Amino acid sequence: MTRRTFAVALIVCLVTAAAIHAGTVFNMKCQAKRAKDAGTGKTARPCGYESQVTFGGGMFFDQICGYCRVCKKFVYLNWTRANIPQEMKARMRIKVTPRPKPLGEVWDSRTGKVLTIHACPHCKGPFLEIKKRDELKHCPACNKPHFVVDESKPRIAVD
Ligand SMILES: [Zn+2]
Ligand SMILES: [Zn+2]
Repeated sequence: MTRRTFAVALIVCLVTAAAIHAGTVFNMKCQAKRAKDAGTGKTARPCGYESQVTFGGGMFFDQICGYCRVCKKFVYLNWTRANIPQEMKARMRIKVTPRPKPLGEVWDSRTGKVLTIHACPHCKGPFLEIKKRDELKHCPACNKPHFVVDESKPRIAVD
């Protein structure tokens, strides 16, 4: 293989990897309707909480997402992908960020799943990773199961 074909092969390889790993930014909004308070009889204002949420990383970095209850926002941890060749790192001047160590694991007795807890990059408090959009159903503001993608807004791919 010549140097040139090697370079081309490398780029094709990385672009393919990026296409698989590329993240997506979703504009999400709580669709909970107005609800009448049984006690007071007053109609509460609809929640309407909205936020951009990004799932997945980019070509050179991997990223996880979660919601921090202390910071009251979606938070992210990212690190440099492990499979980037040294030559590429030097050429693209990539500053290597190591994968952050999780705070720990908890076992969920209801589902039998082991959940990994990470430290919030801002307050260092615990947050649970949200792996994909399907795992984000409840609104972080009102806790109702109506947190969906706002289809009136565009989805953005990141790399
Ligand atoms: Zn936080
Ligand atoms: Zn809500």
